Amino acid sequence: MNDALPASFESWPELGETQGVILLELLLGGPRSRARLAEAAGLSRTSLTRIARELIEAGLLGEGELQPSGHRGRPSESLFLRPERAHFVGVKLTGEAAYVVVTDLTAQVVEKVSAPLPNRSVDAVVELVAGLIAEVSVGFPLVAAVGIGVAGDVSDVGGVEVLHRSNFLGWDGIALSRLVAEATGLPTSMSNDVHALAASLHWFGGLGAHRSLIVYGLGAGIGSGLVVANDAAPGAHGRAGRIGHSRMSGSGVTCAKGHQNCIHSFVTMPAIEANAGVDPGQYEVALQRARAGDERALSAFRSASFALGVAVAESVNTVDPEIVAIMGEGRHMLDLAPDDFVSAATEYLEQVDFSQVRIERPDFHFDSYAQGAAVVAIRRLLTSRT
Ligand SMILES: [Zn+2]
Repeated sequence: MNDALPASFESWPELGETQGVILLELLLGGPRSRARLAEAAGLSRTSLTRIARELIEAGLLGEGELQPSGHRGRPSESLFLRPERAHFVGVKLTGEAAYVVVTDLTAQVVEKVSAPLPNRSVDAVVELVAGLIAEVSVGFPLVAAVGIGVAGDVSDVGGVEVLHRSNFLGWDGIALSRLVAEATGLPTSMSNDVHALAASLHWFGGLGAHRSLIVYGLGAGIGSGLVVANDAAPGAHGRAGRIGHSRMSGSGVTCAKGHQNCIHSFVTMPAIEANAGVDPGQYEVALQRARAGDERALSAFRSASFALGVAVAESVNTVDPEIVAIMGEGRHMLDLAPDDFVSAATEYLEQVDFSQVRIERPDFHFDSYAQGAAVVAIRRLLTSRT
């Protein structure tokens, strides 16, 4: 345990599998009667009574009517989750800064803090992150787990999570979550940042019941995350959803692989800046010029929109999801040049009309990434999966 953490920290109670199932039912399905809960979880009333009592004693469940309803059942008949009982920390790392949030059990952000990285050495970043976690956790008696979201591939190597090809940080082969766990004393998980967004939208995105989803994260790069068969699908090596080097017509900025005409050449914020003729980091200037009708800037956003349409179509062809969600701080091409997105998607979709693809643009703030990382921590705790 890190000395900086309050001594009053409790830890998450040891839960059996069935207890996790009950918590999950209430988390995703809302409060309900014991009878309906037992049915949904496939439990006898006797088993449910015992498990509910344990969870009530742990402070994770409450009993009684939450909403006024026409029925006058016994007050103890309904069970509900107490999301304020446990909190989770989500961390998003970029090449420049760490963004840290605290959420409750329903992934609502209740506290946040951020700080620039002093440098990109692993030791310095771990020290900064541990310090921010300690700072942001003050006042929360039960911080159950930490999730870290970062661009790159996260995979299991001999039972240890390892981050590979995290290009913005220049890291490869770093067991970051283990280092943060050692520095904080808290269970810590790690995932690709856009995979975490997908996991977050799946459970808490307000998109209705769905079993499959593709999320695009547009910003300094382009990433995507998948939910397939009602579970997050990071891939066998943490690389699922890596699209972006498919070639198109036209000529844009040279990508890391040396292409001048791949999706990356057009769709990322640095590509838009270069193609619009503004200085690196001047995305807002490119945006203002495009909005004012500047031809070169507008052309950069039109190309970005077309490239995104190609990417979306190719992943829809592969996965056939119920929902495509487009997120990230660099998604303005959809407002500036929506027709180019549609025409690319129409051209590249195989055997399906664009009108049959459900495209969503959920609310996005940069904290959504850190929130997604917290959701991965919640999912791990309740399901032992991502
Ligand atoms: Zn490329």
